[in-house]
Amino acid sequence: MVSYDDNNIFAKILRGDIPNDTVFEDDHVLAFRDISAQAPVHILVIPKGKYVSVSDFGAAAGAEEVTAFWRAVSNIAEDQGLSEGGFRIIANSGLNSGQEVPHFHVHILGGRALGPMLRSSEAA
Ligand code: 5GP
Repeated sequence: MVSYDDNNIFAKILRGDIPNDTVFEDDHVLAFRDISAQAPVHILVIPKGKYVSVSDFGAAAGAEEVTAFWRAVSNIAEDQGLSEGGFRIIANSGLNSGQEVPHFHVHILGGRALGPMLRSSEAA
């Protein structure tokens, strides 16, 4: 498992070193708009704990953190008006996924028809 880098961008956002457009915050979770939105609604949801990836979060987070995280994802989608029309959640994890920021996060994308899940020239 890759060790946590305290200088990753989301760690800096959590410390308040970099501003963010917050849409939700509680003791365990911060959610903010992606700086490079790929859809009309594009929100990043991150735990406040130091977890590198979804695997790290799943293995090491406490039950309260896990519940708070997924409840926040669900509530944010509802609050943003995405539940009826539908939305997509993406969690990139590790090299093959292209994960850029090594602090576990999910993307919530919605507000338009999102098209196929993957577009790639490579066959499965
Ligand atoms: P990943 O590829 O790791 O799943 O996604 C990282 C996301 O973080 C990207 O969609 C990127 O646009 C977003 N991002 C990178 N730096 C910043 C930042 O400083 N502020 C915000 N709000 N989003 C960022």
